[in-house]
Amino acid sequence: MAGEWHSTACILCSINCGLEVEVEGRRLTRIRGDKQHPGSQGYTCEKPSRLDHYQNGRHRLTSPLRRRADGRYEEIDWDTAIREVAERLVAVRDAHGGEKILYYGGGGQGNHLGGGYSMATRGALGSVFTSNALAQEKTGEFWVDGQLFGKPSCHTTGDYHDAEVAVFLGKNPWHSHGFPRARKVLREIAKDPERALVVIDPRRTETAELADIHLQLRPGTDVFCLSALLAVLVEEDLLDSAFVAERTSGAETLLAALAEVPIADYCARAGLAEEQVRETARRIARAESCSIFEDLGIQQAPHSTLNSYLEKLVYLLTGNFGKRGAMNLHTAFGKLIGGGRSDRRSPVRGEKIITGLIPCNAIPDEILTDHADRFRAALVESANPCHSLADSQRMRQAFEALEFVVVIDVAMTETARQADYVLPAASQFEKWESTFFTLEFPENYYHLRSPLMDPLPGTLPEPEIHRRLVRAMGALDGLDLAPLHEAAAQGLDAFAPAFLAWMGANPAAGRLVPVVLYETLGATLPDGAAAAAAVWGLAQSCALTYPESVRRAGYESGNALFEAILRERSGIVFSVDPYEETWKRLEHPDGRIDLVIPELLEELAAARGEDPQQRDPAFPFVLAAGERRTSTANTIYRDPTWRKKDASGALRMNPEDAARLGIEAGALARVTTKRSSVEAVVEITDTLLPGHVSLPNGLGLDYPDESGSPVVHGVPANELTASEDRDWLAGTPWHKHVAARVEAVA
Ligand code: SF4
Repeated sequence: MAGEWHSTACILCSINCGLEVEVEGRRLTRIRGDKQHPGSQGYTCEKPSRLDHYQNGRHRLTSPLRRRADGRYEEIDWDTAIREVAERLVAVRDAHGGEKILYYGGGGQGNHLGGGYSMATRGALGSVFTSNALAQEKTGEFWVDGQLFGKPSCHTTGDYHDAEVAVFLGKNPWHSHGFPRARKVLREIAKDPERALVVIDPRRTETAELADIHLQLRPGTDVFCLSALLAVLVEEDLLDSAFVAERTSGAETLLAALAEVPIADYCARAGLAEEQVRETARRIARAESCSIFEDLGIQQAPHSTLNSYLEKLVYLLTGNFGKRGAMNLHTAFGKLIGGGRSDRRSPVRGEKIITGLIPCNAIPDEILTDHADRFRAALVESANPCHSLADSQRMRQAFEALEFVVVIDVAMTETARQADYVLPAASQFEKWESTFFTLEFPENYYHLRSPLMDPLPGTLPEPEIHRRLVRAMGALDGLDLAPLHEAAAQGLDAFAPAFLAWMGANPAAGRLVPVVLYETLGATLPDGAAAAAAVWGLAQSCALTYPESVRRAGYESGNALFEAILRERSGIVFSVDPYEETWKRLEHPDGRIDLVIPELLEELAAARGEDPQQRDPAFPFVLAAGERRTSTANTIYRDPTWRKKDASGALRMNPEDAARLGIEAGALARVTTKRSSVEAVVEITDTLLPGHVSLPNGLGLDYPDESGSPVVHGVPANELTASEDRDWLAGTPWHKHVAARVEAVA
């Protein structure tokens, strides 16, 4: 209703700032920051003001779709769609085994709740292999965390609000955020003469413009810059020796390897003045505290897993761990990052599976083969792998080769166009929803969002879609839910023991739990919050895993925590920690940090033989394919009119290169890689070094014109990338380092 403000959250990046929204009919008419939100506290950037472009538009689907023999889609009713999708998935399972059904996605930046319910569908099918965007970004870092701290789920977070020195490595928080109230924090550090902002990035980003020190290294030379920085710490005796002796193991081996690094040579390879690298090492070492944020700039570049290792060694060797202003291990509400050390490998290529995820770049290899263990079908949910993963051409080929594909999404995405069935989901403002980006320390927060309106007619929330699929597959047949219905009717205190007893009697129902909770407890929750039933389970698990942290936040039990989550529509702080708590979260049995990762030290030694300046003469440029800008968001915004500037997503290039190639600002240039060729409008900027060009992320999506025909807007960067260009260990792609040729277009 106009004039009334409703709490929700922004869905455009992992910070999920709290929002207040005024709704008229089905339109989001006014949007502002929610001061009650415990993380963002009223802060927003400029992007969410246009969220109505996501909520309303010609991209919204309003009926399940089935592909006909001629390749066109026809609308079908929900009962038919659910029955046929369930039958087709079960047929694949029965013919080849459930493990041949790949699950991809489970939520973008704002919608993870539906993905939680997918566990039941996957359980009913026996599907065990999954992947999502984390496996093209963060899995290398998670693997390094596992080696250093004991488990990949030992995830660190920086305390940028309190750090004396904040370092951003391949990270431009001005546009990519990554921690609450990012721009405010950056400005505070920049204006405080006692603190320092350090940026290590080949681009002079908006964050670099604010920095005290900007190491503008050549693209792809992070390994040389970081190892030189570490070698300076060793050579100039700038280590926190007491910390290293008391808290770590393997220092002798590591320090011997770092002592071998030729500092002057490596600085030269990175294109940096040696004295600037030395000054950076000294500034970090003398700081009371330092936090470091590594992001896609190094994670999607050559040596990506090694880069993550070296970054972490900088804060560990200077003792910036487990204290205020430094790096700490946080709690988690819901399991976004899987736990134990796993030896699991992908079925065809034997790629390392990290935190349960198959490397995104390996997916085509796991399909386009006659190997008996190849994937035969895929269930894709709130994700668009045929656009957002490397090598779109090959990804499309792979999806075409599958026997059966079903996509659950709000829009007819590039991946949905490869599907046999498309199931239309309600938007993120039409259902109960949340994310599990609970990555903060010392206070961590969780926000369960209530719907602003009913689902668009013809759509369903994902939890209901999964419930119907699981029922249609017959997976709940024979399970007696009556004791749970009875207990739920008596309230949460009666439900908890009844649920434990029921699970004890039905151990095989483990993976079906989300749907069991939805049907039993969910039916009794207020305001139609059935989808929150899975959150009840997570609240119990959170209170058991972190009892002291949850108690310090004011909750004595999982039920008390859940009741607060349901009640507080702007989110709650669910855990509070003293800094020492970090030490209790280390998973190595000796309670120490293991500094030695042998395979990465070998890679470091081998890097000595590399010449980062060496290029194929046919592709002399380094293309960063996917730069975050004010005019880019994730692909949630499909309607191109949300973008007020840079409508087509310009190719940015240095003035020297433009002059040499005879290209003027606003003219068209052709970008060619070994995979493909595209044309883009040129923007000339000295923020990039000569030889370095960039294209924005999130463009190249199609959007229906007035007649309903799809029209592509901007350059789809992954038409240019190749799936084989990836890290040897984690399989993460080199999106920030694509060999390219640029030419003027006549
Ligand atoms: S894009 Fe990110 S930082 Fe900006 S308002 Fe949305 S959640 Fe907050």
